[in-house]
Amino acid sequence: MACTDSLTTRLARAATHAAGHGLAWTRLRRQVYQAVLSAGRPIGAYELLAALEPLVGRRMPPTSVYRVLDLLVRHELIHRIESKNAFVACCEIGQPHQGQFLICERCGETVEIPGSELAHQLSASARALGFELHHQVVELTGLCAHCRAGAPG
Ligand SMILES: [Zn+2]
Ligand SMILES: [Zn+2]
Repeated sequence: MACTDSLTTRLARAATHAAGHGLAWTRLRRQVYQAVLSAGRPIGAYELLAALEPLVGRRMPPTSVYRVLDLLVRHELIHRIESKNAFVACCEIGQPHQGQFLICERCGETVEIPGSELAHQLSASARALGFELHHQVVELTGLCAHCRAGAPG
């Protein structure tokens, strides 16, 4: 249940999750997921289209890819990072959670923070205020440990 697992393990986990949730794991869905997964960091839709080309064997129409991305987000296989307009593979597939991420402003490294207490608090607060929540991703930006070590001062 971690991002340190191999790509093969994570691909297999995604397929199992899809099967368990009635999501047909079509070739294109698998390829799109694989492209997001292999990026290892948030990948934008255009970059994704380019990454898909060698996998699929041809240039996909953007609308088909957007549809698949939406579907993968809805099934919590990937998360959408609003601030970067990009997508990243979920590290905790099958765990009930909302995305919460540490995003490095310098190198773009993005780490999903495990746990769901904070997310529960936020959604409960929203409900208490009569707010209907459609999308909840917490994005914390700053410098990762690696970039801090290399940063002057
Ligand atoms: Zn996740
Ligand atoms: Zn960094």
